[in-house]
Amino acid sequence: MDRKQFIKLIAGATGMITLGSFNQLSDILDEQDNTMPVLFVGHGSPMNAIEDNEFSRRWHAMGSEITRPKAVLCISAHWLTNGTFVTAMDKPQTIHDFGGFPKALFDVQYPAPGDSKLASEMVGMVKKTSVGLNHDWGLDHGTWSIVKHMYPSADIPVLQMSIDYNQPMQYHYELAKELAALRKKGVLIIGSGNMVHNLGMVAWDKFNVDNYGFDWAIEMNSLFKQNILDHNHQALIDYTKLSKSATLAIPTPDHYIPLIYTLGLQDSKDETTLFNDKYVAGSLNMTSVSFAHKKIVAPEPSQMDSTGMDSLKKQGQEG
Ligand code: ZN
Repeated sequence: MDRKQFIKLIAGATGMITLGSFNQLSDILDEQDNTMPVLFVGHGSPMNAIEDNEFSRRWHAMGSEITRPKAVLCISAHWLTNGTFVTAMDKPQTIHDFGGFPKALFDVQYPAPGDSKLASEMVGMVKKTSVGLNHDWGLDHGTWSIVKHMYPSADIPVLQMSIDYNQPMQYHYELAKELAALRKKGVLIIGSGNMVHNLGMVAWDKFNVDNYGFDWAIEMNSLFKQNILDHNHQALIDYTKLSKSATLAIPTPDHYIPLIYTLGLQDSKDETTLFNDKYVAGSLNMTSVSFAHKKIVAPEPSQMDSTGMDSLKKQGQEG
């Protein structure tokens, strides 16, 4: 007997609740499923790793807002491979995959452990393609610049999955679907990139101007957001058809592909929330998305009246 059947039986036996309130109680219990959110995070400049700014502060806050994960899996724009791999070492190294930044950025170490058991589990979960175990990579700045703010103690295992750069967008979307079960196992999955990312057109003199975006960047950011909020995944997979500006926003797809993974991981109970929705230096956006199940706190027994569940009903209506 499953949980719903059990509740129905008890309800019927006691004559306490109507079918309507049974459904509401059942929904509330279903919501206590501890499914982890999925995040697409615009990581922007590596300096965000060490700066205390509005973007890094949001990441920090999310670390406490989200249920503490058993592990973090990051799909970073900065690990492009031939074939798909997942890191499987016990102690992933901190990779400083950039040049021309201050020493303080090169000094950063993020000594989070790996989780080889989880890596092997992932390999077993994926049927449509093969995922290989990797022992050489580690954590690149697409991962640690964000996770460092979310979990400063570096005591949660962090894994990375690579992006097979030879594959079409649809491949990434389908692969993500096969990994959705990880959300129920306490794994927080983060796609780390940027939707609008044209380094060749960065207005370097505007880096410190708040929310400065070129017209085409603003156009594409609006199109991306609208399609994300409308669950229009196929339009986002076929992004070149959205507008002529798409090739300006995405001259190469490396920073966009992590978004496609997060779309594939989305399910019907997720609520979509945008955050850090801002432009930087004209040709970059930091726009990020959280896909998360609504958290409903079960009422205390005292909130239920003796004839039914009016207080529950009220909560349902207000929610
Ligand atoms: Zn990047």
